[in-house]
Amino acid sequence: MDKTLADLIRISNITGKDPALIQGGGGNTSVKTPDGKFLYIKASGTDLKNMNARAGWCKLRLAPVLAIMKDKSIAKLGAQPREAKIVKHLLLACTDKASVASRPSVEAHLHAMLDNRCVIHLHPVAVLSFACARNGEIELKKLFKKIENHKLKIKNVSPPLWIPYAHPGFALASQIAKLLADYQNRFGKKPAVLFLQKHGLIVSAHTPDAALKLLRTVINRCKGKLKYPKAVKAKRPNKKIVAEIKQCISEALFKATGKHTVIKYFYDGQIAAFCRDKNAKKLLTPPALTPDELLYVNGPAMWLDDCGPKKNTRRLNSLIKKGKTPPVAFLVKSVGLFVAAPVRVAPAVRDIVKNSFVIRTNAFRLGGICALNKAEQNFINRWEADAFRKKLATGTPAGV
Ligand SMILES: [Zn+2]
Repeated sequence: MDKTLADLIRISNITGKDPALIQGGGGNTSVKTPDGKFLYIKASGTDLKNMNARAGWCKLRLAPVLAIMKDKSIAKLGAQPREAKIVKHLLLACTDKASVASRPSVEAHLHAMLDNRCVIHLHPVAVLSFACARNGEIELKKLFKKIENHKLKIKNVSPPLWIPYAHPGFALASQIAKLLADYQNRFGKKPAVLFLQKHGLIVSAHTPDAALKLLRTVINRCKGKLKYPKAVKAKRPNKKIVAEIKQCISEALFKATGKHTVIKYFYDGQIAAFCRDKNAKKLLTPPALTPDELLYVNGPAMWLDDCGPKKNTRRLNSLIKKGKTPPVAFLVKSVGLFVAAPVRVAPAVRDIVKNSFVIRTNAFRLGGICALNKAEQNFINRWEADAFRKKLATGTPAGV
């Protein structure tokens, strides 16, 4: 196997199996060939942990990918035709005839813009705890005044760059392009660490090992400032109660939407700890924090004090009347987490919901929770590229 491709699969598999770093089909990785002519990148709709020598990636010619951001005709288009055109350009940049199932990541041009060969983009819970907090930017600045880590032999890394939230796709890429140019003027090189508000983290380095080391340094430094709710040893609730609640949620959803949904139940020490938090209900009030939380969960888990189907049907109906899609996750006090999603998506929903507990708890401590606003939510709900991924994975969104 090509060494560049082997490197890509290695960094993807290592990072992709940790739900504290990435959940579901989110995130993307890339490695440029040593001659700087090609870029191997994760395919859209693939999980990082599932990439292998045969599937889950694309090989792109770098020059046409970089040309996308310079094409003035693309910048002038409206959101829908623009994203469609970018996807077409990315497919044309593929070295082999890419099948629909291996469309390159929609963030390929973003990877291409970074000079370092290995790029890792993830949605780590430790970073999002800052990136979804009102004072996140200030706190990260303090924390990363110096990024050098002599123990890990990480040197000459310039300060991280904060990227204010932008709509996924072209808007985000053009915002990053502008900020990278400003940064290069200031520091003489591009940043190795980018914090993306309400979205995640990008690290890059010239070798896969250096990129993985840098990732570990960033995560550990963030973790040092955070509070993780202590997992509690809780007795598993009785099966009859769980079955009754499943039935109640399923009935309420059916009455509100007319659709039958499978309900999965999850319970562990972390879920139990959050259920016991006296602020749980309040922390779950702000809407979706990130595109992933919106795409997979339709917003935060809904807190249920009471499991009567009548009351819950009323709540779900009132959400639908407001034009909202009903939530996918329900947190029931002293019982646990219930997920209304197809079996293959349910674990990703569980991971995002559990991470959101940690993010919300910490963001609250760091000046307050900063969630996606209405316009940001509307854009994601309409986004063509995500519609494609949802379809591709038969009801499974892939995050960004
Ligand atoms: Zn992302």
